[in-house]
Parts: sequence; C-alpha cells; structure tokens
Amino acid sequence: EKSLRKAVIAGNWKMNKNRAEAKALIEEIKPLVKDADCGVIVCVPYTNLETALELCKGSNVGVGAENCHWAKSGAFTGEISADMLAEMGVEYVIIGHSERRQYFGETDVTVNQRVRAALDAGLRVILCVGELLEQREQGITEEICAMQTKVALQGVSEAELERIIIAYEPVWAIGTGKTATADQAEEVCAFIRSVVEKLYNKKAADALTIQYGGSMNAANADELLSKKNVDGGLIGGASLKAPDFAAIVKAAS
Ligand code: PGA
Repeated sequence: EKSLRKAVIAGNWKMNKNRAEAKALIEEIKPLVKDADCGVIVCVPYTNLETALELCKGSNVGVGAENCHWAKSGAFTGEISADMLAEMGVEYVIIGHSERRQYFGETDVTVNQRVRAALDAGLRVILCVGELLEQREQGITEEICAMQTKVALQGVSEAELERIIIAYEPVWAIGTGKTATADQAEEVCAFIRSVVEKLYNKKAADALTIQYGGSMNAANADELLSKKNVDGGLIGGASLKAPDFAAIVKAAS
C-alpha cells in the first residue's frame, strides 16, 4: 500500500561543489522545498558536510554522506567511519552506489559490512542496487537485484530495516540521460519489495521506501513517481541545480 509510505527525494551530489558552491546551492534549495510533502535529503561530499549540517539545521532538509567505512576506526588511510559521520550529526549515508562498485572495488560483501557499520552508528542508509546494461540484456536483472539486496541486508533486523531506504538504480541509466521507463522502474522496484517481503514479512516490505535513480529529472519525475512501488528518487545530475531538484521534490509531494 503506497499510502503507508512517504516519498523521499535525495540528492546525490557525487564529487561536485566546493564549499562556497555548496553553501549557495543549499541556500537556494531550502526555500524552494520548505513546504514539501515528502522527505528531502542532500548527500554531499565529506568536505561539505559541516556546511550542509549548519545550513539545514532546523529545516526539513536532511543531510547525508556518500559513503562510509565498515570499521569503527583504525589503519584505513583516507577513509571515514560511520561513527565519525554520526558524531557530526549526519543522519544519512549512501552505501553501495554503482560508482563505488565500479571504480572502488565495492562488493556485495563490503556493502553489507558498511551497512552494518552505518546502522550500528545510528545512521540511516540509502542502499543502492541495480543491474548493468549487459545484465539486463542477459535477462538477469532480477537475479542481480535480489543478490545485491539479500547480501546487503544480511544481519539486518526488522527494526533496523526501518532505517533503510533502497534505491534501485539501473547502472545504464545513471548519468546517461537514458532513464528507465516508468514501467521498468516499477517492475524492478516491485520485485525488490517482494525480495524484502520474503526476507522479512509483508508489513516490513510495505513500509520500505524504494527509490528509483538514474537520470531522473524535472521532466520525467511525475511519471516515474506515479508508479505504485516507486517511492521517491535518488537524483544525481538534476540535484546540482536548485530549480530542477525542487521540481522533482514538488512532483513527489
Ligand atoms: P543521475 O545519477 O541522476 O545523474 O543519473 C543518479 C545517481 O547516481 O544516484
């Protein structure tokens, strides 16, 4: 039942915006989304977290990081732990983004370890899953998404699942301008929900927010978000322009 779920629109800024640009963008976004009837989150580079937290304090815009490490601390040069994020006041963290999987050796197992660390630190997780183009062409989209979802959620309790959002992001749609059709998005989001239902139960699956991500923009958001199992979006490119991001938020409200 979609009415049980609130849509969530999250921006994924990736490796974009210096501090001054981040400040300007958030200041532009805030008034445009203040009456949103959906969740609004901006996930920003580590170096912008403090700025984002300060500017979003007391507003309806949540702040997230784009990754975290699985260890609490230790000899992991260049990494940031979930505890460090939580201590700053960060509420969300993206885990398992396809760019992490493609370029930084992220696997289903390390995604699971990071999910565990984030939950242990008290964070909320935006967990990304999705198939490559060749996997879709081979007809194994469901197998891939089921595997990624099941491994990522290993050791996650039903209570902890309430702090997880799943983002279905077909890799071929990310940053390509080639959006999945609304029917393709709905089909896989519904499938992922059925996987979660089997792992937990119907109540937990019905309550789970499942976003679509991949070239979602102001022009196509309405149609994608009209689908029963699409509960919002993870927005890359279009989250870097306040009017575009606000238009997507409006479409979800
Ligand atoms: P995109 O990115 O909207 O630019 O396709 C989405 C994402 O990578 O989360």
